[in-house]
Amino acid sequence: MKALIIGAGIGGMSTAAALKQQGIECEIFEAVKEIKPVGAALSIWSNGVKCMNHLGMGHIMDALGGPMHNMAYHDGISGGVMTQFSLAPLVESVGERPCPVSRADLQSQMIDWWGHDKIQFGKRIERVEQTDTEVTAYFTDGTEATGDMMVAADGTHSAVRAHVLGQQLERRYAGYVNWNGLVDIDESIAPGDQWTTFVADGKRVSIMPIADGRFYFFFDVPLPKGLSEDRSTLVSDLTQYFSGWAAPVQTLINAIDPDTTNRIEIHDIEPFDTLVKGNIALLGDAAHSTTPDIGQGGCSALEDAVVLGEYFVGKDKTTAGILTAFKQYEDARRFRVKDLVLKARKRCDVTHGKDQQETQAWYDELKRETGENIIAGLRSTILGGPLA
Ligand code: FAD
Repeated sequence: MKALIIGAGIGGMSTAAALKQQGIECEIFEAVKEIKPVGAALSIWSNGVKCMNHLGMGHIMDALGGPMHNMAYHDGISGGVMTQFSLAPLVESVGERPCPVSRADLQSQMIDWWGHDKIQFGKRIERVEQTDTEVTAYFTDGTEATGDMMVAADGTHSAVRAHVLGQQLERRYAGYVNWNGLVDIDESIAPGDQWTTFVADGKRVSIMPIADGRFYFFFDVPLPKGLSEDRSTLVSDLTQYFSGWAAPVQTLINAIDPDTTNRIEIHDIEPFDTLVKGNIALLGDAAHSTTPDIGQGGCSALEDAVVLGEYFVGKDKTTAGILTAFKQYEDARRFRVKDLVLKARKRCDVTHGKDQQETQAWYDELKRETGENIIAGLRSTILGGPLA
């Protein structure tokens, strides 16, 4: 039984790991010759870390996870603490820690774990054909590959999604621009063991520690889509957007390297119910594109892979076995992923001032927050995963 896996991102690599555990041969096809991740880092929350452990890649989390033991919100303008608390009660109640990690390192370690030479790079799928028993991928270089099933983990711009859904979906602009990158840990910006966030005016500046003494930072600013900003104006743009903000924010802006800082217009896709068409399954961002506001896009790709793999346990290695496992995967995942996308969208709107009154009410809440409510929210998201 052979699976064609499209995309060597978090979704594709974790799917390969999950199917390999079930004795299924996997061929991985990746469009680009060299993967250049769109973001500097990711917070892999406890549900994602559990999936990495389950898939035999826990050592990657151990090596890359930053020491994020506390969490704090500050008023962006005055710099004053709104709330500050330990994440230990969360870790204790869900049974695993969160791991903020360098995205490039995560990606390359997952690829190395599988074997770089065993992945076919420079293979961009443009078309797919399926029969009851086979799937054929056609690549832009004129080559093709056939397998018993396909898992399309080809990201938010998926080339396979329209085939599965029978329609092309448009991405929805979420209303804000995100700049992200890495800097050395500097305690005059924030403590080196804490996820620190500055908020005001629907904007946000966030800093979290990853391994090797580095901070992952990001800036969010509600802006129209399509502004002509580029690297040459990046520092002056941020200086202008955060003019009058507290000293740590100014220190961070002065520390960033514009050449390695990403600027991303944030999008999601209206959730949909169809994740599977016969022997083709969508997985990861191809199946559910979310804003990053609850840090669950990559985690849910990991969850997808674990769930898909588990539905092959005890199945006949036949077409009927594949169709049943894929259908079970779709049934198990569609509500969870829809919930995560909509939760992130709601968080996105509140954080980024879609309704100023709601955002102000959230700022007021943060000043009364002991950590209990935030931890309850994080816990409920994490425990909704498959390995709770
Ligand atoms: P991708 O990572 O996009 O990988 C898809 C792969 O498929 C790519 O390598 C691509 O080159 C390849 N591909 C594309 N088209 C084709 C084709 N036609 N043929 C063959 N290959 C193709 N998630 C978290 O869990 N925590 C976070 O903190 C977090 N923060 C984020 C911050 C930002 C700013 C952004 C934008 C996202 C964030 N996410 C986070 C979401 C996370 O990045 C994605 O959900 C995750 O990368 C999805 O993995 P994937 O493998 O499905 O897709």
